[in-house]
Amino acid sequence: MSHNNALFARARHHIPGGVNSPVRAFGSVGGTPRFFARGEGAYVWDVDGQRYIDYVGSWGPLILGHAHPAVLEAVMRAARNGLSFGAPTAAEVDLADLLCERVPSMQQVRLVSSGTEATMSAIRLARGHTGRDKLVKFEGCYHGHADSLLVKAGSGLLTFGNPSSAGVPAAVAADTIVLPYNDVAALETVFHEQGDQIAAIIVEPIAGNMNLIQPSPAFITAMRTLTEAHGALLIYDEVMTGFRVGPQCAQGLHGVSPDLTCLGKVVGGGMPLAAFGGRADVMAKLAPLGPVYQAGTLSGNPVAVAAGIATLQEIDGPGFFENLEQQTANLVEGLRKEAAKQSVSFCTQSIGGMFGIYFSKAIPTGFAEVMTSDRDNFNLFFHAMLEQGIYLAPSAFEAGFVSACHGSAELETTFVAARRAFNQIQ
Ligand code: PLP
Repeated sequence: MSHNNALFARARHHIPGGVNSPVRAFGSVGGTPRFFARGEGAYVWDVDGQRYIDYVGSWGPLILGHAHPAVLEAVMRAARNGLSFGAPTAAEVDLADLLCERVPSMQQVRLVSSGTEATMSAIRLARGHTGRDKLVKFEGCYHGHADSLLVKAGSGLLTFGNPSSAGVPAAVAADTIVLPYNDVAALETVFHEQGDQIAAIIVEPIAGNMNLIQPSPAFITAMRTLTEAHGALLIYDEVMTGFRVGPQCAQGLHGVSPDLTCLGKVVGGGMPLAAFGGRADVMAKLAPLGPVYQAGTLSGNPVAVAAGIATLQEIDGPGFFENLEQQTANLVEGLRKEAAKQSVSFCTQSIGGMFGIYFSKAIPTGFAEVMTSDRDNFNLFFHAMLEQGIYLAPSAFEAGFVSACHGSAELETTFVAARRAFNQIQ
């Protein structure tokens, strides 16, 4: 028996489903999840010693690749001074300064430990600030696993065919209004009818949890103007897109200033760190200044902060995003060509260091279209690539990620594998 199989069997004794987060379980693609022993640059090695080119990157954080020397050095230096104080440190002030400088809509920021905490806290803050309860979210967007957000959500919920979780009180779900992504008319109707009760819109400004879906310019504009007109807040959940699609996140690409922004993944450089921030008058409502409570024993943890600062400094280097964007575009173009050679119904797109692959005729613009893509073909492709040492996200509903370490050699290897994989699908 392989070490992967043996570990998975053992894991299932004491860990539900053998995993500590559902999307890791290969639930929709079938087979045994790989247990990783080591990562370096663009590569990961499983416990059987098999090497893979990694296009998951820990689901987004590892924009510099695995075990980047500058990040490791910063982490080890910080760790030697103590792992946690539960008290302020100079480094967290540095990180707050960095984030507010990079993202102009963030006048103030608070550090937390996960994307879920960031979105959950931003929503509580929006409700506390406006004195309203209702929240607008979009079908297929995933904002972490807080109760009010597990309604028609993307990511693992979509993968496992259970987009609204059990265990969420009906009264909580009743305050979440779910609309189709990119549907301006639906948004206008809801604000016309209930605008005075809506605390906030929360949105992935580029959706990455129902595969990769781009917002239309009209959708982006409508969210900003409607929230402004009705006294609601606009919350950009940039946990995935933050410092992944560009140096000023998705909001920098779209030229829109949300009231609040949630960050995660890249800002922690692979360590448990996330953040939420935005307008100073809104952030002033947070305890200890204001009445909205939010806290965390490990918030602003010095080791995680060190990893975050080192990562942000590296991506600030000249040409970083231009190179990443070009390399990601090269990847999707190469995959597209291989599929076209074999007449497979396949399309793909990329933004910054993020990409989507779809087994459909056209690039989807919303949830309903994503759902029509061919999942059997995705599963065949996934396993054919895995067998050849290419690690893609084990779900047709997840975006992929490229790191600064993915060079032309890794891309060429990927194309050769894709040729064989598409051949099996024909
Ligand atoms: N928001 C978005 C857009 C995400 O993609 C995720 C996680 O994938 C989250 C929030 C939740 O972050 P975390 O898993 O760190 O709680």
